[in-house]
Amino acid sequence: MKSISNLNGKNVFITGGLSGIGKKCALYAARDGANVIVADLDSPAKDATMAEIKKWNAKAIFIHCDVSNFNEVESAIAETVNVFGSFDVALNNAGIGGESSRIGDMTEKAWQDVIAVNLNGVFNCMKHELYQMSKQKSGVIINMSSILGKVGFANAGHYVAAKHGVIGLTQTAAMEYALEGIRINAICPGFVSTPLLESGGISQNAEVKTMIENLHPMKRFGDDDEIANVFLFLATEGSSFMTGTAVEVDGGYLAQ
Ligand code: NAP
Repeated sequence: MKSISNLNGKNVFITGGLSGIGKKCALYAARDGANVIVADLDSPAKDATMAEIKKWNAKAIFIHCDVSNFNEVESAIAETVNVFGSFDVALNNAGIGGESSRIGDMTEKAWQDVIAVNLNGVFNCMKHELYQMSKQKSGVIINMSSILGKVGFANAGHYVAAKHGVIGLTQTAAMEYALEGIRINAICPGFVSTPLLESGGISQNAEVKTMIENLHPMKRFGDDDEIANVFLFLATEGSSFMTGTAVEVDGGYLAQ
């Protein structure tokens, strides 16, 4: 029997790690003994979040990195390798919701803004992560997709397209690197209570919130702990035969 593994001593790189799901995954990784690299935009939450992560006695650093910027991502990954020596686990999680509108009314800017972060951002990260992991012949990548990477959702064409693209990149990279000791999977959360939903006006509007909760057979939003536990599983050896999957963590949303 294989023993249950953990992230002890591993270097875990998380984009968008200052808030919501990414922050919770960073805390779980730190609790599990990992060194944590948070790559995010600067935010007022930075110092408090990094202090929270370090409370688990983790070595943790913050790197300013806009994932939509190819060169900033390249530098962030190079800095991680310089500081910690290797690049073991990456969670490509940074994402935005974007403005809501039907496709015929969507501005080019609204489209480009979401694609730049949610799709190009994941490509930028994977490109540089895989280059490094391929040299090491080891590594794990987890991409944050969504239930909306598998089905449509009205007024979110940009987001839906980006999240479908993330699954396509995940599957393709899994095939390309399967024999190099590198596993690549995606997580597809249902709606999870985070600042992203607040900025989209969903959490504060009781009517909209109930309507969306009811789209999940469990009739509630997910909790970021419920996503972080799956992240931990995919990041460690317990999932050693999994690659190219897009794991649904959605209270039954996609079962219907
Ligand atoms: P969140 O609380 O808003 O956190 C997202 C983080 O990403 C924030 O720290 C944000 O920084 C950062 N970020 C935004 N743009 C960035 C950029 N260009 N470069 C680097 N970092 C950037 O959102 P969340 O709900 O945790 O979402 C995390 C991921 O899960 C996203 O990919 C999202 O699409 C996905 N997801 C969320 C849900 C949900 O219901 N919450 C469901 C399915 C999938 P700022 O705060 O400074 O903007």
